Amino acid sequence: MTTHETTGIHARSYQQWIDGSACEAASGARFPRSSPAHDVVVGDYPLADVVDTDRAVAAARKAFDAGPWPRMSGAERSRILFRVADLIEKHKDELVLADVLEGGKPITQVRAEIAGAIDLWRYAAGEARSQHGESNTSLGQHMLGLTTREPVGVVALITPWNFPFVIVSQKLPFALAAGCTTVVKPSELTPGSTLRLGSILDEAGVPAGVVNIIVGYGASVGQRLAEHPNVDMISFTGSTGVGKGIVRASAGNLKRVALELGGKNPQIVCADADLDAAADAVVFGVLFNAGQCCNSSSRLLVETSISEDFLARVDELTKRVTVGDPLDETTKVGAIVNQNQLDRILGFVGGARDDGARIRLGGTRMKSDKGLFMAPTVVSDVTRQMTIANEEVFGPVLAALTFDDLDEAISIANGTHYGLSAGIWTSKYESALKAGRELSAGTVWVNCWMDGFPEMPFGGMRESGIGREQGRHAVEDFMETKSVLFHQGPRTSRWVPALEAGQQ
Ligand code: NDP
Repeated sequence: MTTHETTGIHARSYQQWIDGSACEAASGARFPRSSPAHDVVVGDYPLADVVDTDRAVAAARKAFDAGPWPRMSGAERSRILFRVADLIEKHKDELVLADVLEGGKPITQVRAEIAGAIDLWRYAAGEARSQHGESNTSLGQHMLGLTTREPVGVVALITPWNFPFVIVSQKLPFALAAGCTTVVKPSELTPGSTLRLGSILDEAGVPAGVVNIIVGYGASVGQRLAEHPNVDMISFTGSTGVGKGIVRASAGNLKRVALELGGKNPQIVCADADLDAAADAVVFGVLFNAGQCCNSSSRLLVETSISEDFLARVDELTKRVTVGDPLDETTKVGAIVNQNQLDRILGFVGGARDDGARIRLGGTRMKSDKGLFMAPTVVSDVTRQMTIANEEVFGPVLAALTFDDLDEAISIANGTHYGLSAGIWTSKYESALKAGRELSAGTVWVNCWMDGFPEMPFGGMRESGIGREQGRHAVEDFMETKSVLFHQGPRTSRWVPALEAGQQ
């Protein structure tokens, strides 16, 4: 570990984790990561390539085909997963710091994220004990039917940079609860907290080969995992474009694919709503994690009759949000993850201006002596056809549209190719119920935004994804169902006439 002289920030050195051991990449290559908020190196990591990917998959395959993990009782797996949760809790400060420094995320927010992740591990640990099939005794007196549930096999988990530890915790404990073995590939922008998991899992008693963690570029390691004939399932969170590529790459052996992709999520604000609460939620919804969030409420749909007053309120609240050093306890919005992402965000804002929208607040990179910070941005006079109303910006940029009645609001809300989440602010029961039924989204929030629980499924409709994470059925997504039929007594209906005695 090296300490940077002027900031006091430590740069940590990590290793990858294959077959129960920490190791270097086969090529010996390593790469650094600088904090996007402090411009100093905060970590360096082995750079995996296809050779390491094949080693990691071979270890997971062996652990699945011949190892103890898939053969253990659910109770045993559950006990180990609870131990993992306890150890994550014990080492949480280290994990928090890795995500803050590599991702540029506010420290108070990341503390809450790691606490949420621990809760996910505990929830999945509980679920490990209740995964079983069913019996069917009503198939006739000579037949007993059993449906058994078995782990899918080797699962590759590919995760992005925006919520590194939360997202791996939405997948890994559920795959493990099912009895699967895994290869995990975090984004090379924020791999530290995921790599640190290797030795935590080992200390908790997860056998060698069950979880393998490598970091490499999506185009090499990610692509190899998606194509690999010995990987049975792929669970991916990231952009819709890469998600489509993964579906294509996985066709070789028809892997099961679970995708959690982007969104252009609307919050509908009706004139009859609690406007104070709604304005706070709109600002939170778009600025949380600097807007680098699949659940970002990047579209505001506000009823025309209140739109000017409401937007003025949103502007005022936005100006109060503290943007800056993610290590500062008072910071609400941290850095943008890298220059590419910042350029992409500025490109969308420029495009909106060219399309005739009004940039009423922000719209530029913030001046700072170090780091990449984007000014919180509010764009109004947006119409349905504009790019800013349809594409995921992944930055602190709110696009405001207006509507005249709820049918129009729902039509605008459902008018993109995404369907991840949506929300409505209203005091009318009828409007809330209609929105709950008619919004095409995996999650609909009524008079709240972004509340989530391990008990509640999460995922997207349409081009926002395939499958659901969390909730009671999350472990099932990592399992196959098998029908086993038992016949009792003499054969009930012959297909060909029986042989006579002497013909046999
Ligand atoms: P990507 O979808 O490119 O990255 C997500 C993960 O997929 C990373 O681990 C990445 O690795 C990996 N990956 C990249 N290419 C492949 C591939 N061909 N096969 C398998 N895995 C691959 O997102 P970006 O980081 O490029 O962000 C771009 C945009 O994506 C954002 O602006 C945002 O709109 C969206 N996004 C959505 C997220 C969500 O939560 N739904 C999360 C992150 C991004 P590597 O980092 O090495 O490229």
